[in-house]
Amino acid sequence: MSTSASPAVRLVRGDITDQSVDVIVNAANSSLLGGGGVDGAIHRRGGPEILAACRELRASRYGKGLPTGQAVATSAGRLDARWVVHTVGPVFSSAQDRSALLASCYRESLRLAAELGAKTIAFPAISTGIYGWPMDDGARIAVRTVLAETVEPVEEVRFVLFGAHAYAEFEEVLAMRG
Ligand code: ADP
Repeated sequence: MSTSASPAVRLVRGDITDQSVDVIVNAANSSLLGGGGVDGAIHRRGGPEILAACRELRASRYGKGLPTGQAVATSAGRLDARWVVHTVGPVFSSAQDRSALLASCYRESLRLAAELGAKTIAFPAISTGIYGWPMDDGARIAVRTVLAETVEPVEEVRFVLFGAHAYAEFEEVLAMRG
């Protein structure tokens, strides 16, 4: 097997907490203490173990919270995964280009998953919910960043899209290979 291939990219329509993968990525906020959207679903379904691990991170390495664009791993509680990787997407701004921070979320999450030895990873469409990022641009950044990374031993990157609109935007970008 080539060591320089980018991972296979798959699109799935559904709820990320239903996925069976090594890593589930959480679109967290910097407090790491829970929120709405994907974050709320992960903590609800994964149970209190994930929140306890997040509180420990706040009490140690991330006293001021996890900075935007960075990623950190915890256990996955009752989810069908080995780890949850929490990453903080940027809030969309029409006055300021924050694309590099959004790309960083995908890149840092992938690198961390690779360090952990993950073969499969599921991402939501980071920042496209409460944080207001337009879905077409969010999809472009997600797919491009993942295709540009070499992340052995990660073999499969799954984008788990909640609605038909998100799925269609990712499908279009993927058909153009970013
Ligand atoms: P952010 O704060 O980074 O915008 P959100 O969780 O609000 O994160 O939303 C990110 C994207 O994930 C949105 O497109 C939203 O529709 C979608 N989403 C929300 N809940 C889930 C879920 N359980 N599984 C997959 N995607 C979800």
